[in-house]
Amino acid sequence: MCGILGIAGPFEVGNDLICGLTALQHRGQDAAGVVTLSDRFHMKKGAGLVTNVFNSAEDASALTGKFGLGHVRYATQGTTDVFDAQPFAVNYPFGLAMVHNGNVTNFAALRQRLNTEHHRLVETTNDVELILYTLAAELERKNLANLAVEDIFSSVGALFGKVEGAYSVITLIAGKGMLAFRDANGIRPLIFGKKNTALGPSYAFASESTAFDYLGYELVRELGPGEAVFITLDGQVHTWSAVPVGAGGTGPGAFCAFEFIYFAREDATMNGTVVARERVKAGRRLANNVRAAGLQPDIVIDVPSSAYFAASGLAEELGIPYRRGLTKNNHVGRSFIVPSQVERERLVRQKLNPIREVVVGKKVAVVDDSIVRGTTSKHIVRLLRDAGAKEVYFVSAAPPILHRCVYGIDMATRKEIIAANHTVEEIRVYLEADAVIYQSLEDLRDIYRDVAGCFACFSGVYPTDVQPETLQVIEAERELRQSQRVHWGALAGGR
Ligand code: SF4
Repeated sequence: MCGILGIAGPFEVGNDLICGLTALQHRGQDAAGVVTLSDRFHMKKGAGLVTNVFNSAEDASALTGKFGLGHVRYATQGTTDVFDAQPFAVNYPFGLAMVHNGNVTNFAALRQRLNTEHHRLVETTNDVELILYTLAAELERKNLANLAVEDIFSSVGALFGKVEGAYSVITLIAGKGMLAFRDANGIRPLIFGKKNTALGPSYAFASESTAFDYLGYELVRELGPGEAVFITLDGQVHTWSAVPVGAGGTGPGAFCAFEFIYFAREDATMNGTVVARERVKAGRRLANNVRAAGLQPDIVIDVPSSAYFAASGLAEELGIPYRRGLTKNNHVGRSFIVPSQVERERLVRQKLNPIREVVVGKKVAVVDDSIVRGTTSKHIVRLLRDAGAKEVYFVSAAPPILHRCVYGIDMATRKEIIAANHTVEEIRVYLEADAVIYQSLEDLRDIYRDVAGCFACFSGVYPTDVQPETLQVIEAERELRQSQRVHWGALAGGR
């Protein structure tokens, strides 16, 4: 998962890109980067949070130019090295700089084709490089002396035929403008915005409307699956779609259901709805399953903070109080970067502290967005029991995760995913909970019936062709990244 942002003039955009990225920080914390375009590309990228990478006024002033891109990275393919951080740039056939969010699934074949047909040597393990070189190779076939907007769009169309997987992309083309496009299934989000300024209109693209709210852009619309938008250097807007045009000018799509459940910020607008509203709906729907299990909790609490809206929806539907029963310390790092299980447990205790008065003597339904490996869920159950909860029911707003995501969500390997290997009863025993309640896939599909969604991590039905070797390579890369994060966590003293 990553966050991307592009701003097309008509003012100096370096500072706004840095500020806007902070509103997308929840989408990636491994690395951050910005590139701007003036007489040349000006780029800075590095490991860590946006505020770690851009920590001086000079950083913004060095990023000169009226068109620019920003990226926050959570590595889902490739390593966590700074070498793999985005943006990426090449200088032929035009100066091209690119950021993307998603995951290319036919990376091995693409790497091979780029090498044999276009003599391009892919230097990193970041799949944005594959998209960048593919676009460069397609542009190279055009009339370079007089590249038309139609040439740019037909290059994107050719790219769609070659690059498989999920990708929302923003690109700078030196001397031409800014190009944004979304894969034919529209798996990852990409929105288009506008702001009127004294100098004229400014346009922007972003993963989430949270960045627009912060920067004062109005949300014009979401790019449709298979759609491309090009903004010329003088601010002309051109649009094109590769997918058979439906009512909204978009294809059917397969939007990631997990964006609603967990990844997107609750104040983001996606698919025409606010994420918080969808989470309340999911929470309300869970009440049927709680009742069907014969449970009568006294209170509902959430695992902060992405489960808040689902928990409050469940409480409303059950007619019982919602309380904040766990306090989160936001100044403690993520639990997966520490090396041992004992350390991880210590970190969860540091990170989440139960409010004893809220839970003591109560039957507590604790709602989380999902259960992936189950390790954190188990610690939470233990924390609540230690704080005096009479019974603990662990409630997942997502259905059981049974399959690996290949589209840019780094959940776990299949052998780590608890529901892929155990029954609900075995999970309950492992968590030491009195009950485990999941959302059903049927209910989730019904909640999002207005959204053409991807539910592959629950159903195993992938919207693109996914070969078994692809899954193997993605799993091997995940293991490599985990070892790098563990190493980094140890070096950083378990930040
Ligand atoms: S497999 Fe799951 S996490 Fe991945 S894109 Fe589909 S719904 Fe989202």
